[in-house]
Amino acid sequence: MPHPTLPYDVEAVRNDFPILHQEHHPGTPLIYLDNAASSQKPRQVIEAMNEYYRTTHSNVHRGIHKLSESATLAYEGARKKIRSFINASNWREVIFTRGTTESINLVAQTWGRANLGPGDVVVSSVMEHHANIVPWQILAAERGFSIEYIPVTSDGQLDLEVYERLLTQRSVKLVSVVHCSNVLGTVNPIADMARQAHQHGALFLADGAQSVPHMPVDVQALDVDFFVFSGHKMAGPTGIGILYAKRAILESMPPYQGGGDMIAQVTLQGSTWNELPYKFEAGTPSIAEAIGLGAAVDYLGQLGMTTIHRHEQSIIQYALERLSEIPGITVYGPDACRKGAVAAFTLERIHAHDVAQLLDADGIAVRAGHHCAMPLHQHLGVTASARASFYLYSTPSEVDKLAEALYKTRRAFAL
Ligand code: PMP
Repeated sequence: MPHPTLPYDVEAVRNDFPILHQEHHPGTPLIYLDNAASSQKPRQVIEAMNEYYRTTHSNVHRGIHKLSESATLAYEGARKKIRSFINASNWREVIFTRGTTESINLVAQTWGRANLGPGDVVVSSVMEHHANIVPWQILAAERGFSIEYIPVTSDGQLDLEVYERLLTQRSVKLVSVVHCSNVLGTVNPIADMARQAHQHGALFLADGAQSVPHMPVDVQALDVDFFVFSGHKMAGPTGIGILYAKRAILESMPPYQGGGDMIAQVTLQGSTWNELPYKFEAGTPSIAEAIGLGAAVDYLGQLGMTTIHRHEQSIIQYALERLSEIPGITVYGPDACRKGAVAAFTLERIHAHDVAQLLDADGIAVRAGHHCAMPLHQHLGVTASARASFYLYSTPSEVDKLAEALYKTRRAFAL
């Protein structure tokens, strides 16, 4: 099968990622196809963090000395880069967290605890990552509201008729749905869904963990109330992520954690809160990680998110074609034009963990298991799947090697 034409020189891009040039086992190059779990980092990000530690490190927002001022400038500079990357209207709407999981827990524990009670409904979906199910379940047990889940259709889409019915028939206060599924790859129509939610007086949270790294995202165009994502899936470091929310909503929310930096005034009788975004950033933040995320955003911006998306569309289309040749394979989710660069699959009569282990022996890193989406796997009728997920440095040759290794896996099981 001929290789697709790619929009940029992928080998030049790969040269920026030192880890991609190492051997996975002696004599076997690494083929990294676990990008939905975490992406690799270009040297521009690694160097930005090293440089910060070598020359600038100090605590932020505190000292009046020069180092602290430089660290604060770099940290706040990263926030401004991220504001522009997602087109938030104001830098105060960009809150640094540890990642998607912490961002959703923050919304649940602050906005949720203040606004949800008996009779209220949170709408989520069957295709969510556990990070967008469990925080609501924990809070529902405490506050007595209920959670309804939008089902998934046989072609891996959200059932939007049921969504419409839920909005009209229940007292929905919040819709919290994934932008792009980490298993099916489905890209959900978030802008339309948010508009419908607003028409029924509900707020809308989009989990952008699998969209922001791979496609242009404009939070104002989407008109979502909350948008969350993680740095480590978008060429940035671990330990840093973002909660974006509209300013008026953030102003109305109580703080999350208490401590340094999030206060205006503390007396032994009580405290008042700092202005946004610091109200939600208690304690010493992940300074180097924020700067690393800023460098990642620069890196992605230079390639261009539209171009990255085009590259990944070519790769996933080619991957779905190659995978469909393999006897006994089931690939989950919609066709290439309606999904991100994720292919979760099962091979008849071979457990997903065995598939992943045999691929690993050929240098191919994929993930196997429920991918933190157990309800979705229950819906699919499998306990586990193997998942190949691609990124801006993935190549058609890597897809070929995956397909060859899957043929080999079948032969190893005498199939
Ligand atoms: N939501 C989705 C869709 C994800 O793919 C992930 C990561 N697998 C998360 C949430 C959680 O992200 P993190 O572990 O970085 O908090």
